[in-house]
Amino acid sequence: MHDIDRTINDEIDALNNQAYLLRASDPVAARELTNQILMQAEAIEYQLGIGHAIRTLAAIEAKINPVEALMLANQAIAILEQEGDTSAVASALMTVFCYYHHVGWYEQSLLVLKDAYEKATKSENLYVAVIAVYNMGVNSEERKDVDAAIRYYEMAMDEAKDGVNEAIYWQARNARAKLHAIKDPNANWIEELRISREALLKVENISAACDSHSSLALIFSDRGLYKEAIFEIRRARILAAKHFQAPMISSMLLDLGEIYTKYGKYTSALRTFHRSYRYAQSTGYVMSECRSLERMAYVEQELGLYKKSLAHLFQHLKLKEKLVGEQSENRMRDLQAFHRIEMVQAEANLARRKNDELATINNDLECALEQQSRLQKELMRMASTDDLTGAVNRRQLVNDGTLEMERHRHVGAPFVVTILDVDFFKRINDGFGHAAGDEILRRLTKCCQGHLRRFDVFGRLGGEEFCIIHHDTDVKGALIVAKRLMDSISEIPTADVIGDINLTVSMGLSEVRRGNESFYDVLHDADMALYEAKNAGRNTVKVCQSRHLEAA
Ligand code: GH3
Ligand code: MG
Ligand code: MG
Repeated sequence: MHDIDRTINDEIDALNNQAYLLRASDPVAARELTNQILMQAEAIEYQLGIGHAIRTLAAIEAKINPVEALMLANQAIAILEQEGDTSAVASALMTVFCYYHHVGWYEQSLLVLKDAYEKATKSENLYVAVIAVYNMGVNSEERKDVDAAIRYYEMAMDEAKDGVNEAIYWQARNARAKLHAIKDPNANWIEELRISREALLKVENISAACDSHSSLALIFSDRGLYKEAIFEIRRARILAAKHFQAPMISSMLLDLGEIYTKYGKYTSALRTFHRSYRYAQSTGYVMSECRSLERMAYVEQELGLYKKSLAHLFQHLKLKEKLVGEQSENRMRDLQAFHRIEMVQAEANLARRKNDELATINNDLECALEQQSRLQKELMRMASTDDLTGAVNRRQLVNDGTLEMERHRHVGAPFVVTILDVDFFKRINDGFGHAAGDEILRRLTKCCQGHLRRFDVFGRLGGEEFCIIHHDTDVKGALIVAKRLMDSISEIPTADVIGDINLTVSMGLSEVRRGNESFYDVLHDADMALYEAKNAGRNTVKVCQSRHLEAA
C-alpha cells in the first residue's frame, strides 16, 4: 500500500469515528457526514472504511427506523467479518440487538447480546462489552426478571467504572435505581435517580438523562402523583428539544400520553398520542409511529370512538407487519444457522446410519437368497436321489425315461432299458443282517456307476432291483455292457460282508420299439425279460423278444 493511500484511509477512519460519536447528539448531521465518508471509501474501494460507515448508518437508524437499521447492520457485519474487524462486528451487533428489542423478540435479542459480548471481549472492545452487559439488564427487565436485571446493571457498573464507559456506568446506575424505587417505595432510590440523572447530563448522554426523567415520571404516576409525573416529563421534553433529540421528543410525548391515560384524562391522552404520532411521522421514527397508533386506538376505544379506534388499530398492525418483515426473517435464519448446521449434520448421520443398516440388511438378504438357492438345489437332489445308494431314485428314473421316450419319438433315437435284480438277496439279509444287505446294495451301485457312460442313467427301482437307461444304444450294444457288468459284479469283493456267498445278478433288457406308447411300456418289456432270466436259473441276461411278445 502506498503512503498516500494510507493517509487517505487514516482520514476516512478518523471521519468515521467522528460520525459515530455524533450519531446520538445530532443524527441528521451524523447521517450526512457518514454518507460522504461512504462515497469516499467506495471511490477508493477501502472495504474497512465502507464497513465502518455502514455500521455508523445502522447505529443512527437504530432508534429511528429499526428495519432499515437491521438491513444496514447485516450489510456492515458481512463486510467487517470479511475484513476481520471483530471489534466493529460486535458494535454492529448492538444495532441488530436494537431491532429485536424494538420488535419484542427478547429470546432472539438475548442471543445477539451474548454474541456481541463474546466478540467484544475477544477483541478487547470493552466499551461495547459493557453496553452488551447493560442491555442484558434491559433484556431481563423486558422478560420481567427484575432480580437478574439488577444483577446485570451492577455488573455493567462494575465493568464500566474507571472510565471505560462513563455514560453506561451512570445509565446502569440510573436503571438500577429505577428498579429499586419501583420495588421499594420507602427507600431513598429517588434521590439516587436524581444523582444519576445529573451525572448523565454532565457526560452529555442526553437520551439517557431523558430516560431518567421518564423513569421518575413512571414512579410518580405509579404512586398516583400525576402532577409530579407530568412535571418530570415536561423537563425531559425541554431537555430533548434543547438538544434536538427528535426520537426522544417523540418518546417523551408517548410517556406523557401514558400518564394522562393512567390519570383517566383520555381527551388529553388522545391529543398527546396524536402529537407523538405526527412527530414520529415527520421525523421518520417508525417505532414511535407504530406505538402511537396503538395507544391512540386504545384511548379511542375508552372514549367510545370505535370506528376511529378500529381504523388506527388497522394502521398500527400494517406498520407492525412492515417492521417484522422479511429482514427479520433473514436475520433469524442467520441466528439459527449454527443450530441448523447441527440439525443437518444429525440428519446426515441418521441417513448414513440408515444406509449402513440397509446395506447390512441387503447383504443378509443376499446370503439368505444364496442359502435358499443352495437348499433348493439340495432339496431337488434329495428328491431325485436314493438315500441308501446315492443312485437316481425311481421318480427321477421315470422322468429321465420319459424324456428319452420323447427324444425317440421326435428324432427316432434308440435306447435300451435294462432291469437288474440281485439273485437270492433275501438269503443275504437273512444270513448276515439287513445292514450287510445295505452294504452289498451300495457296493453294487458303485460298481455299476463305474462301468457306465456319464449320460447313461443308473437308478434304483426299489429293493434290490435296479434299472439302466442306455442312451442312443441298441440291444447289441446294451448286451455287451450287460455282460461286462455281470463280470464286474461277480468280482465285487464281498467276503468281509457275506463270507463266501457268490454275488450274482439277473438282467432283462428291452429296446424301445414301435408300439411302445410310454416309458412304462419299455420298462414292462424289460421286466418280462428279467422274469425270463430268473426262470432260466438266474445269473444271466435275457432280451425281450419283441415278436414273441407281440404274439403274446
Ligand atoms: P430272487 O433271486 O428271486 O430275486 O430272490 P430274492 O431273495 O432276491 O427276491 P425277494 O424278492 O424274495 O427278496 C428281496 C428281498 O430284498 C426282500 C427284502 O427284505 C429285501 N430288501 C428290500 N429292500 C431292501 C433294502 O433296502 N435293504 C435290504 N438289506 N434289504 C432289502
Ligand atoms: Mg432278487
Ligand atoms: Mg427283486
